[in-house]
Amino acid sequence: MTAPVSVPPVADTARRDIPAFVRDGERMMWIGGRQVAAVSGRTLPNTDPATEEALASVPRGEAADVDAAVHAARAAFTDPAWAEMSPDRRGRILNQIADVIEEHADELATIDSVNMGAPRMLTAHMLAEASEIFRYYAGWPTKLSGVSVPAGKDRMAYTRKEPLGVVGIIWGWNGPMGQLPSKLAPALAAGNTVVLKPAETASLSTLRLAELLAGTDLPAGVVNVVTGLGAEAGQALVAHPGVAKIAFTGSTATGKLVQRQATDTLKRVTLELGGKSPSVVFADADLDVAVRGVAAGFLGNAGQACVAASRVFVEESIREEFVERLLKTMEAFAPGDPLTQGTLVGPLSTKAQFDRVSSYLDIAREEGANVVTGGGRFGDHGYFFAPTLLDDVRPDMRVVREEIFGPVGVITTFTDIDDAIAQANDTDYGLAASVWTTNLTTAHRMAAAIEAGTVWINTWAEMSTGNLPFGGYKQSGLGREGGLEGLDTYTQVKTVRIAL
Ligand code: NAD
Repeated sequence: MTAPVSVPPVADTARRDIPAFVRDGERMMWIGGRQVAAVSGRTLPNTDPATEEALASVPRGEAADVDAAVHAARAAFTDPAWAEMSPDRRGRILNQIADVIEEHADELATIDSVNMGAPRMLTAHMLAEASEIFRYYAGWPTKLSGVSVPAGKDRMAYTRKEPLGVVGIIWGWNGPMGQLPSKLAPALAAGNTVVLKPAETASLSTLRLAELLAGTDLPAGVVNVVTGLGAEAGQALVAHPGVAKIAFTGSTATGKLVQRQATDTLKRVTLELGGKSPSVVFADADLDVAVRGVAAGFLGNAGQACVAASRVFVEESIREEFVERLLKTMEAFAPGDPLTQGTLVGPLSTKAQFDRVSSYLDIAREEGANVVTGGGRFGDHGYFFAPTLLDDVRPDMRVVREEIFGPVGVITTFTDIDDAIAQANDTDYGLAASVWTTNLTTAHRMAAAIEAGTVWINTWAEMSTGNLPFGGYKQSGLGREGGLEGLDTYTQVKTVRIAL
């Protein structure tokens, strides 16, 4: 089966309803409460991946801009307006941020959909989660307590949880408003100030959010935004001696680089990295539910998801029936205009991303995998890629081992639960997994045996709205986001001993 090549997913580009903020002109960065261009005056272009049309540009910030932002954040950190703010007031400001996100959710979701191609349904979902994450962390400033420790007669000892200082936040383009809140909300709840460095190809929603934050009671300089390239602005932020911590989401390769670079100044680092997550379908699964979850698992956000379940393992006895049903279900995931109601899959985010996914299909063919469906461009303009399924794969193939980050799944079989566990864990990654079964024992055995930070049973990609930890085993990351674990990574503990 091959994908149609002549269907234009976006029929009439000129009539698309695009917010003015993304349409044209140059947007500004935010440093110390002021909108600024890059010191160099240089800019970076943005492209709508559905139409290949130019969008507004953003400043190409570099080391000098990062330095100015870190100084502004440092000044805000020690300014009594933030440093001495009462915990309940800080909590109220986080709730205010949740309010503005809610009020402007439609606009922010549309900006992301236009800027990076995720369907409106998905970006709307991310924005809904974003405000919930801020509300969750809004409750924490008043509860962030140390402990009183027995220290003997005439002595008193207690601990304080204190903020770190300036936190640099760097994250990816595949869900800008999905990834930022679980970093920004706990950083602020703990009393830090931040410098944000969004991904160079999808910065527009962050710049709009910064504009909205300027209308809240957040003191100027607490949140600063520098746009720019990873190798320039990103690297300068990681190397800056005035930054106490880097919270990073991105590829495993860049995450390793970030950790190495952060070593010189011994910054705290938390890393949310890549994955090659398994979907494991047992013969006793409810196949109607499983087949939809498995398809969404590797096709959602056109496969550009850290938790993409791109390795599918099916119990041998149901292989034929499952593949037949999966292929039928995949038809509902045909790519379309991200702004159209009901579109489940948009384009790949950039031309570079399209070329990268295409090159993996060349690799798959060279390695001897069979392209069951898809395998290349979808439509005749935009960076749309056909939903793709590969079989006849071996565990050593690159398409089985490496994160493709496109709408590409590989499918293979297992014989029993031990075989399923062994194959699912045969990866350097460990971000997530989904298991499809109606057998309680199988479900719990799999949940315990799979080496991943999150295991979903009979569901997929249900993300936390703040209260559940999320993060990677193995090379999928370091540290956790969400819940108290996530908050603690933005604090440091001080011990106080008093002679009475
Ligand atoms: P990337 O690593 O190329 O870029 C991520 C961010 O790092 C960008 O802002 C980029 O500008 C910056 N960057 C690049 N080089 C840098 C450097 N030398 N120093 C500092 N910053 C630098 O990743 P990407 O392609 O934008 O995102 C896709 C990857 O992110 C995938 O591997 C995906 O699995 C992963 N991801 C992980 C999670 C998670 O929560 N675990 C969530 C989403 C995406």
